Amino acid sequence: MRIARFTTGDEPLFGIVTGDLDEYGQPDPEAQIVALQGDPIYAGINPLDQTYRLDEVRLLAPVLPRSKVVAVARNYAAHAAEFGNEVPEEPLFFLKPNTAVIGPGDTILRPAASERLDFEGELAIVIGRICRDVPKDPAEVAKVIYGVTVANDATARDLQRRSGHFTAAKGFDTSCPLGPWIETDVDLAAIKAGLRVQTFLNGDQVQDGTTAQMVHDVPALVSHVSSLMTLLPGDVILTGTPEGVGAMEPGDEIEIFIEGVGALTNKVGTR
Ligand code: MG
Repeated sequence: MRIARFTTGDEPLFGIVTGDLDEYGQPDPEAQIVALQGDPIYAGINPLDQTYRLDEVRLLAPVLPRSKVVAVARNYAAHAAEFGNEVPEEPLFFLKPNTAVIGPGDTILRPAASERLDFEGELAIVIGRICRDVPKDPAEVAKVIYGVTVANDATARDLQRRSGHFTAAKGFDTSCPLGPWIETDVDLAAIKAGLRVQTFLNGDQVQDGTTAQMVHDVPALVSHVSSLMTLLPGDVILTGTPEGVGAMEPGDEIEIFIEGVGALTNKVGTR
């Protein structure tokens, strides 16, 4: 099931997106969205008697992270190596504030203090239940996952290099595009077996990896993070990016496509 959040100009609603995706992750032109009552993470699936054509609504970020976006760094060996970093023995993670989140079609705004804004295409895990100290057992981890979506861990690389910290470089407004929807039918075995993660800059492929290349897999990440901080429903974990990271410039269009999940497209601007 694909859970989206959308607006027709009024109050945002959640809904279920119907139809199949093509080989580029684009929905069927006849796809519809069936509106739901409330936020399905908390309220369950309660369809309203309101159906729209997908192409007549504006999709929004499919989740509003309740307390945090946890983002894992250097979780693909080839990406760590391209920046001369070692793969960390235990997961290395940082936080992006929920104010960083934007939705599909929104513009990533390079901060005034930066001249180097990078894309990082990543699989994002959406937490469905309050949890702490989740065992690494995939069956236990599966119980706390609501679904997955696509993320761009937009990074002001020059700010990161200047400060040595991640917060400003990866936490600025618009630095966390999420979407286009939450796919609830992707299981941990499929992620472990490998979902292809591709990034296209103005239509040219710049990243091409698979989730099978993660150094610390999703059960290890959820277990490790939850051993240190409670995860709430609606929190999001970004699982790291494959190699091929590079710059995006104002005026560019950046698309991240994850097999079996969907394609997240954003424009790039400045502020
Ligand atoms: Mg990243």
